[in-house]
Amino acid sequence: MTIDNFNFNGHKAIVRVDFNVPLDENGNITDDTRIRGALPTLKKILADGGALIVMSHMGKPKGKVNPKMSLSQIKEAVSKAVGAPVEFAPDCAKADEMAAALKPGEVLLLENLRFYPEEEGKPVGIDKEDPAYDAAKKEMKERQKEFAKKLASYADVYVNDAFGTAHRRHASTAVIADYFDADHKMLGYLMEKEVKAVDSILKDIKRPFTAIMGGSKVSTKIGIIENLFDKVDNLILCGGMTYTFAKAAGGNVGNSICENDKLDLALDIIQKAKDKGVNLVLATDCVASDDFSNDANTQICCVKNIPDGWEGVDIGPAAIANFVGAILPAKTILWNGPAGVFEMDNFATGSKVICEAIVEATNQGAFSLVGGGDSVACVNKFGYADAVSYVSTGGGALLEAIEGKVLPGVAAIEGK
Ligand code: AMP
Repeated sequence: MTIDNFNFNGHKAIVRVDFNVPLDENGNITDDTRIRGALPTLKKILADGGALIVMSHMGKPKGKVNPKMSLSQIKEAVSKAVGAPVEFAPDCAKADEMAAALKPGEVLLLENLRFYPEEEGKPVGIDKEDPAYDAAKKEMKERQKEFAKKLASYADVYVNDAFGTAHRRHASTAVIADYFDADHKMLGYLMEKEVKAVDSILKDIKRPFTAIMGGSKVSTKIGIIENLFDKVDNLILCGGMTYTFAKAAGGNVGNSICENDKLDLALDIIQKAKDKGVNLVLATDCVASDDFSNDANTQICCVKNIPDGWEGVDIGPAAIANFVGAILPAKTILWNGPAGVFEMDNFATGSKVICEAIVEATNQGAFSLVGGGDSVACVNKFGYADAVSYVSTGGGALLEAIEGKVLPGVAAIEGK
């Protein structure tokens, strides 16, 4: 079932959202992007004449009640956003009566799901090495099913709109779907958009396809790099990874961030790119600084010849020109991870120019997906979030999807 094809009139829908919003020390929301992201789904249900039960996690309370992570703190903000009064159920597993009393157009917000260890389904207080761990895990899986069944009993339709947790098989993100038939479970609008954006990158590819992978380490990106080899025409690797490649090629990288145990992996990647006919674009020069601070002295160096005491903190002018050359003609673009230490203004140029090239290619008809943590912070910092095709809300979920893994949250609905 799809959300557009379902009329919620007279139905009670339980919707998993990702309202894990950042709060300041007084419990005020500092960024409401996640609440706004789920609004099209929540508003559609109410506008159809449905009753709405909203559930989410917040933070990592590790299966225990923690008032600092109570969703009661965001009740008013949710009410304002959906334009309706919101009731709050202080115990998500004992909300039977409140859910039963809910009428069309009314909203019930459940307390943080992760106050119950059953939500994540991992045994607590027992070490993985403990001989009793397997039995405890089995028991917790049974309890997780009961918890999911309880949540399911509040409603007759289930909607998953929490892309940020779609890579987890939790009670509210996947297990609950077993208690609804195919006509009464669906992805929300945000999830649909995210899944479609990933499909544009992995299935419906318009060429040339240029992927830009940055960030600090090769080791955390290797899964995606490997999966992208079969899809991309140009693969730009930048950020801190640059120096692992430069050292692997026999260079001197000074104090630059470098994974010495991944030098073979870097050589492997270079060889694989050759074997697969992928144009691998690495930075040839960099901005090196004599301190990890915005006011440090800087010089432009060859990435393979960085003086001792200096470290590469951004890409240099030759690298910028090469990267832009591979981005501008692209018709499909994926960007994950900054080219330098963009948090410091003096080392943000490379990331900013990449961003501008992506925007220009997008204006010329490319599909551009930006996602996975810091590159999202980059497009926001430079004010380009609305100028690329899609900015993903998912960190780990997006990366796992691009690695080619089936997300449990999506599979539970689509029956894959
Ligand atoms: P990741 O979480 O792996 O995507 O890495 C993002 C982080 O990588 C950002 O905080 C950047 O400041 C950092 N980064 C990018 N380039 C460099 C570099 N050349 N040296 C140190 N850190 C870097």
